[in-house]
Parts: sequence; structure tokens; C-alpha cells
Amino acid sequence: MATLHLECAFCGEGMEVPHDGSYAPRYARCQSCGEQFIYEPLRKGVRTLKPSEADSCTDPDRRELEMGASGQE
Ligand SMILES: [Zn+2]
Repeated sequence: MATLHLECAFCGEGMEVPHDGSYAPRYARCQSCGEQFIYEPLRKGVRTLKPSEADSCTDPDRRELEMGASGQE
């Protein structure tokens, strides 16, 4: 499985997360500052943002509601 390199949206700490190939935005929790942030895999690299900055397209919770939860976890 591929990995994504994230940088925390709050403190900039780098971390690696497994990437299952989906480009849907996800939540991640920074182990350095403990804050939860959103990351969105892109074709090149990954975008991270604070939950307070997310719009309805990039908020994982709201997106699931709008698109219909798949029930896969
Ligand atoms: Zn952090």
C-alpha cells in the first residue's frame, strides 16, 4: 500500500499515513500537537487544512452525508 506524506495543518509536523488509493478527504490526528486536521490526497502530493477552513466539499463528515455513506470503514 502506498503512503502519503502529510504535514500537520496546525504545527507543520510531518507524518506518513497509508493511502488506499481513494482521493476522498480524510481526518488525521497529529501526534505532535494532538490537533485533528483534514487531508485530501491529490494526484501529486496532498492538501491539508484545518477543519475550520473546510467547505462542504472537503469536510469528510458533510461529504459523506451528501454522497451517501458507503459503510466501508
Ligand atoms: Zn500538529
